Amino acid sequence: MPDKERVIRCPSCDGYGWFEDDETAEAVDCDWCKGIGYVYRSADGVDRPIPRQDAELVAETIENLERERLHALGYSGQAKKPWEQDIRKGTKGGVNPYEEKPSEE
Ligand SMILES: [Zn+2]
Repeated sequence: MPDKERVIRCPSCDGYGWFEDDETAEAVDCDWCKGIGYVYRSADGVDRPIPRQDAELVAETIENLERERLHALGYSGQAKKPWEQDIRKGTKGGVNPYEEKPSEE
């Protein structure tokens, strides 16, 4: 992570990383942060998406920010994947995009 940049919550999607398309009701990635939910902000206030190769560098920072964000939402505990968060149950974000249907036992 460059010295003069810091990681901030994406001002466009507020850390969610996606929007629900009004017409199709499909979840679409946020353009501003490329779906990450967080961006780099330079010292002079310019935002840019976090490059994928920086993912490991910022992973801990993002996890901390995500924990703060969830805490602010009233969620306590470990940061979870969006689709694991109770607060998103019943919403588009509560659906695991990697799992078409929950396994039935
Ligand atoms: Zn965003």
